[in-house]
Amino acid sequence: VAPAPTVHLGNRFARELAELAVPWQAEDAPDPRLLVLNEPLATELGLDTDWLRGPAGLGLLTGTAVPDGATPVAQGYAGHQFGGYSPRLGDGRALLLGELTGDDGRLLDLHLKGSGRTPFARGGDGLAAVGPMLREYVVSEAMHALGIPTTRSLAVVATGRQVRRETVLPGAVLARVASSHLRVGSFQYARATGDVDLLRRLADHAISRHHPAAAQAERPYLALFEGVLAAQASLVAQWMLVGFVHGVMNTDNMTISGETIDYGPCAFLDAYDPATVYSSIDSGGRYRYSNQPLAAEWNLARLAEALLPLLHDDEEQAIPVAVEALRGFRPRYDAAWAAGMRAKLGLPSTVADADVSALVEDLLRLLARDHVDLTSFFRALGSAARGDAEPARLLFLDLAAIDAWTARWLALAPDAAAMDRVNPVYIPRNHLVEEALDAATEGDVAPLERLVAAVTAPYDERPGLERYAAPAPQDFGAYRTFC
Ligand code: AMP
Ligand code: MG
Ligand code: MG
Repeated sequence: VAPAPTVHLGNRFARELAELAVPWQAEDAPDPRLLVLNEPLATELGLDTDWLRGPAGLGLLTGTAVPDGATPVAQGYAGHQFGGYSPRLGDGRALLLGELTGDDGRLLDLHLKGSGRTPFARGGDGLAAVGPMLREYVVSEAMHALGIPTTRSLAVVATGRQVRRETVLPGAVLARVASSHLRVGSFQYARATGDVDLLRRLADHAISRHHPAAAQAERPYLALFEGVLAAQASLVAQWMLVGFVHGVMNTDNMTISGETIDYGPCAFLDAYDPATVYSSIDSGGRYRYSNQPLAAEWNLARLAEALLPLLHDDEEQAIPVAVEALRGFRPRYDAAWAAGMRAKLGLPSTVADADVSALVEDLLRLLARDHVDLTSFFRALGSAARGDAEPARLLFLDLAAIDAWTARWLALAPDAAAMDRVNPVYIPRNHLVEEALDAATEGDVAPLERLVAAVTAPYDERPGLERYAAPAPQDFGAYRTFC
């Protein structure tokens, strides 16, 4: 028998920010069964995949047997949920097991979701069902493969515990890896304690882990804020370019690192429509597709408020500093979006910005009017750049309009090969995700494995995967997601 590999889990967060960390243990998993393991990620992390599949590995992945010296904690944070402030959210059903150290010396959180009630659970049961944890697995790994910053998914283990939702469902624990779990809500929580030393320690911790250049800046905490703002402007632009709708952009679901976090009611656009809302609880459309940049900016204003005591000794004088910094969001977002659209259209840098934006504006109007599938369109446009305009053209009702647009665009000499590197063929389409989660809930993980295989090489078109590239069948109907 090979000796058990040692997994070293640090406890830097728990030590440096004890006020935000409640030491806690995972609930027992009566019958743990590995549903899916991310072998490439495990290997990257230096974890032995055979060991992870065994009883000791499942103990780690469910939090029921943690390495000596580890200090699992539930993290405290606050948050604005749909605009309303909750002073005490925190990990109600999650635990930070500790930090792994990457080859480059950077820390990575190993975190569990669905590991049982914590002191932050309020009325919740602390549990998670197989379906939603597998949704996070497949969508987060798809986002990573698309090149979009995100938390990663290491494994989903069915616990053998039953979870009561609208029906009784099998329970599961997701093992998640992230560059940290610091959120805007972490800062709101620290600020609300009135303890400026705690707020400063949190900011120093964030600078050291995510924005180290800020430590050298003349005003490190302002530089931290600007670093988060830049990371979020870039992140949300990438969501918009690929048609991702997060669905629940509350301040507790927005990271300081700039990684996408918390895949609850998220979904990808099929037909392009700026007003798209999938989440059943977002009745006002606050987090609709087109409002995501505004929602991010609103959240950053809440972060700025939390940071005020660190921006100036006199808080009155801190306000104009924060307001000025926030003004940086729109130009940064606009620049990231415009650069991304230029790339999706394959246009060289010699084409003027104004020409690109005029083309984009006209295109989006046509896509919306004819309910064109966003992902299919951009991929098909690569064929048009190679001389075959039919696949893209056939997605429209108003052929004269798209023909005229295509002629204008072709005159700018788009680069088809470059387009294929940024316009995915395979995204986790809503009907395929539902199909895979339903099968897995019934005990068959094969459809999920096939979907993961398709979406983790999203730009590489392969024979036999046609159904993973196709829009939902007509009878799939309007899509609704649930947390
Ligand atoms: P979310 O909408 O997933 O960001 O969660 C918002 C808050 O509700 C967080 O504090 C979660 O920890 C908590 N929460 C969500 N689901 C549960 C549950 N089943 N049990 C306990 N807490 C939960
Ligand atoms: Mg959350
Ligand atoms: Mg959630």
